[in-house]
Amino acid sequence: MKFHILTLFPEMADTCLHASILGRAAQSGCVSFHTVNIRDYTVNKHKKVDDYTYGGGAGMLMQAQPVYDAWNSVQSGSEVKIRTIYVTPQGRTFTQELAQELSQEKELIFLCGHYEGIDERVLEEVVTDSVSIGDYVLTGGELPALVMVDAIARLIPGVLHNENSAETESFQNGLLEYPQYSRPPIWHDKGVPEVLLSGNHQKIAQWRLEQSIRRTQERRPDLYERYMKKNLQS
Ligand code: SAM
Repeated sequence: MKFHILTLFPEMADTCLHASILGRAAQSGCVSFHTVNIRDYTVNKHKKVDDYTYGGGAGMLMQAQPVYDAWNSVQSGSEVKIRTIYVTPQGRTFTQELAQELSQEKELIFLCGHYEGIDERVLEEVVTDSVSIGDYVLTGGELPALVMVDAIARLIPGVLHNENSAETESFQNGLLEYPQYSRPPIWHDKGVPEVLLSGNHQKIAQWRLEQSIRRTQERRPDLYERYMKKNLQS
C-alpha cells in the first residue's frame, strides 16, 4: 500500500515514517511512504503558500493553487481517484473501524493543513474524507496524519510480525484488550494470574474474554453497551 502525505513540513513525517516498525515495513516493501512538499508547487516567486483570509480574522490560510498542484502531482499518476483524506478537527473522528476500512485501499493521500487551515475551494475539489483525531486543535495536520498512517499501516499484512499481531488488540472485537504479564512470575510481591501459567489454552481464552469485558465495562461504558447490544442480538 502506498501512502502519500502532502505537507509543508515533510521532515516531520519522514522522521517518524522511517523509524521502528514502519521504517522496517517500508524497507521490506509491504508499504511505501511518499511525502510531498506543498511548497515545491507554489507559483509564487517568493515561495509563499499562504495569505490572509477574506473577511478578516487572525492568521493565515493555505492557498488553493499550491495545494491543488501538489495533490495533482500524485493524482495525475493514477487512473482512479485516490481516496484523499483531509486531516481536520472538523472531520469525523478516526476509529479502528475506519483504519480497517482504509487499510483495504491500494493508495491513500493525506492532506495536512497548517496555520488557519486550507482554502475551502480546493478542499471541495480534492477531498473525499475529512477526518479528525479528536475534539482539540493542533498547530498542523502532520501529527494527525502520522497517527492515522500508523494505525492503518499496522493492519497491512507483513507490517507486524506474528508476535505483534493486531488481531487481539483493543477495538478489534469491540472490546478493550485484557491485562497482560511477562517475566518474572513475581514482581513487587505481585503474582501473575494462575490461569495464565496453566497451559490450558481454552481456559486462558475464556479468562481473557472475561477480563476484556470487565475492563471495557469499567473504562469505556459506551463501547461495553454497544458490544452487549450486538452480542444479545446475535
Ligand atoms: N481553523 C481550523 C478550525 O478551527 O477548524 C483549525 C486549523 S488548525 C490550527 C491547522 C491544521 O491542523 C488543520 O488544517 C488540520 O489539518 C490540522 N489539525 C488540527 N487539529 C486537528 C485534529 N484534531 N484532527 C486532525 N487535524 C487537525
